[in-house]
Amino acid sequence: MPFCPQCRYEYQAGMSRCPDCDVELVEQLSPEEELPPTGSLATVYIAKDMTEASLIKSFLEEFQIESFIGYDLGSAYPIGHIEVRVAEEHADEARELIAEFLRSPPENLEL
Ligand SMILES: [Zn+2]
Repeated sequence: MPFCPQCRYEYQAGMSRCPDCDVELVEQLSPEEELPPTGSLATVYIAKDMTEASLIKSFLEEFQIESFIGYDLGSAYPIGHIEVRVAEEHADEARELIAEFLRSPPENLEL
């Protein structure tokens, strides 16, 4: 089935242009185009080390929130100030989830 790369609407076979966007339809939407727009990211958590940051990242991904880990590239070893960032539109949701997560972390977890 052809898709419009712009509005992502799926069309019937045989269509070649999206009448709404006036662009050529593509056979498949590439996974890259499903990523959130590379707009602004918001820092939702500052972790003390990479382990904690990865933990928060994988936790958010369970809720389909894509997250990114950022740190000061000037430091030899990233420690002490590792930011977990998400797309701005998910920031509020992510902060709530993290707060919830920190209130009741899974057992056997040292934060
Ligand atoms: Zn379209």
